[in-house]
Amino acid sequence: HPSHAPRTPERRAVIVGGGLVGSLAACYLAKRGWRVDLYEKRPDSRKPDNRDSAEHRSINLAISERGLSALRRLDPALEARVKDLVIPMYGRMIHALDGQQTSHRYDVFGKHINSIGRGALIQLLLDEADRCPGVALHFGHEFVQADFDSGQAVFRDAARGGEHVTVGADLIVGADGAFSQVRQRMMAKGMMNYSQTYIEHGYCEFSMPPRRGDFALDPNHLHIWPRGSFMLIALPNPDWTFTCTLFMPWDKFGALAADGDIVSFFRTHFPDALQLMGEDRVHAEYTANPKGSLMYLKCSPHTHSHRAVLLGDAAHAMVPFYGQGMNCGFEDVEALDRIMIRILRAGGDLGSSTAALTDKQLRQALDEYSAARAEDTSAIVDLALDNYVEMRAKVADYAYVTRKYLEGLLHWLFPRQIIPLYTMVSFTSIPYTQVVARWNRQTLWLHRSITAAAIAAAVGGGVLLARLLGGPPALLRAVARVGARAP
Ligand code: FAD
Repeated sequence: HPSHAPRTPERRAVIVGGGLVGSLAACYLAKRGWRVDLYEKRPDSRKPDNRDSAEHRSINLAISERGLSALRRLDPALEARVKDLVIPMYGRMIHALDGQQTSHRYDVFGKHINSIGRGALIQLLLDEADRCPGVALHFGHEFVQADFDSGQAVFRDAARGGEHVTVGADLIVGADGAFSQVRQRMMAKGMMNYSQTYIEHGYCEFSMPPRRGDFALDPNHLHIWPRGSFMLIALPNPDWTFTCTLFMPWDKFGALAADGDIVSFFRTHFPDALQLMGEDRVHAEYTANPKGSLMYLKCSPHTHSHRAVLLGDAAHAMVPFYGQGMNCGFEDVEALDRIMIRILRAGGDLGSSTAALTDKQLRQALDEYSAARAEDTSAIVDLALDNYVEMRAKVADYAYVTRKYLEGLLHWLFPRQIIPLYTMVSFTSIPYTQVVARWNRQTLWLHRSITAAAIAAAVGGGVLLARLLGGPPALLRAVARVGARAP
């Protein structure tokens, strides 16, 4: 194995995975004085010849406060450049079967989430990492093995016929996605709890073309066609198209494969969408596009010894129904940075070069990170799962919509005391565990208030009626008469 000796005596980080989270982590660590080598198994997706090698998983994503906050902390100009690429979505547009559209705003104060192209965002972050002094990007390098105690990672170099390259590092960051090999190696070393679950639903993407040179639907909404056990959603793209995703149980996909008539399925369940997409397109894309599976995973701890940490999907893949997977991964990077800086400062170093952390401080930072983050990310993995039922079924339910309006009104009246769940998740950086605790308290308070209001209304109504009838005995006689007539 040829060995790449560290080029300088400085602290060196090796990042495995040049996806959304790995490339942001590279920028952060470089800014904090680390020498960073980022290894990505695929070729460089920014080069035109390699575009096909970019994955096809969801063409666009929703980015919200947690993701934007991590970009802002790194560099407000980077957040501004990302914001130049987005299309704001102020609410959900619910499409009924008869074609009627109803807008549900996300927030009474006009806060919004943002649709952004996955490809554009990853290119921007890789360019940013490329520009950082101290960062080297290595494409076509697949992680295969690591010895965390000695800080050695081994990569297979595609350009050299699969030759193995061994690299030394003070910190190994596993940002290699849901099927993380770094996590596998950490698990092989023992003492890691892990669970992984595939849900019984899959997804398939379609496109909706522009209509007369403009968006076919309102671009400032996330469109949902909720149909109980399945749903279609659509997010806008800057080229006036929408990317539509059909989420559905696998047995329904299976049934459609058997009789093959996706067009009549759309005609029955999404007639307005079919009209805008076109029958030929729906048929062709359903035949050609892959059907993706959906899973969630949790693990704990997220670290190994004082040298390795998992960030992003490698530590906590979740189903996409809260639009939080990437946002949460970006928040991981910010959270680790905050902890490292705090420990550095507590040790008397008032600078911001976390590369100056001693081994002992680094271990402390990773321990603290894992203790906080394993719980927080577990909470959002659960919330994301719950939100699927909300999107595909509850949004069409009258009681649910009424409750949402009531919460919105209370939030408007008491913006600090009552915050709807969606607002806490998407528009704040309140830790996810606190979001859940606070939500449970609010729900209890809301239920008690509604019960108290109902009792007060009943008592008040009774008193009023008694007065109108001439006193309590008259009211009791009237009640007895009604009771006697009852069957
Ligand atoms: P990945 O994006 O998976 O990147 C991992 C990288 O590591 C890849 O480039 C891979 O090639 C590389 N790699 C893997 N193995 C190795 C190896 N052995 N050696 C070297 N490199 C390796 N999130 C949101 O926030 N908002 C949304 O709206 C949203 N919508 C989604 C819709 C769908 C349908 C899906 C499936 C997901 C969605 N997500 C969304 C989640 C989001 O896509 C992920 O959370 C995000 O991509 C995680 O980023 P990552 O960098 O951790 O992992």
